[in-house]
Amino acid sequence: MNTDQHIPFMQQALHQAKLAARDGELPFGAVVVKDNQVISVGRCREAKRKTVLAHAEAEAIDKACRTLGTNKLTDCIIYCTNEPCPMCAAAIFQAKVPLVVIGASRADLSFLRPRAIDIQALAEDSGYAITIVRDILKPHVIELFSQR
Ligand SMILES: [Zn+2]
Repeated sequence: MNTDQHIPFMQQALHQAKLAARDGELPFGAVVVKDNQVISVGRCREAKRKTVLAHAEAEAIDKACRTLGTNKLTDCIIYCTNEPCPMCAAAIFQAKVPLVVIGASRADLSFLRPRAIDIQALAEDSGYAITIVRDILKPHVIELFSQR
């Protein structure tokens, strides 16, 4: 897939992030795509659900597994408005997702502290081939945080 093909799916992830913001959550969104179709969506729901597990990517991965009836998402792509945290990255790689498309990386948002273990390190540790694409609609993602 080229960069342009990623844009409509990242726009859907951005929509999820905006829904999260509307609910008073941090503006994080994610969608899982298979065969050019969105099969699941997720957004941050930490404040509402009062659990640290309610991240956008974790929700999207969980729903995708349930929808497809499998714990292996080897034919799927996940679109994340932001670079997934280590917990979500671990879930993504546990599900063997081969392509992760990111809007804004961690270093793009100054209020996030740098981490020694980033998604690239976890990908390399996963034992299978993973492609990480960054900077898809990045200015749109960053804009969500400037409104906060
Ligand atoms: Zn997360």
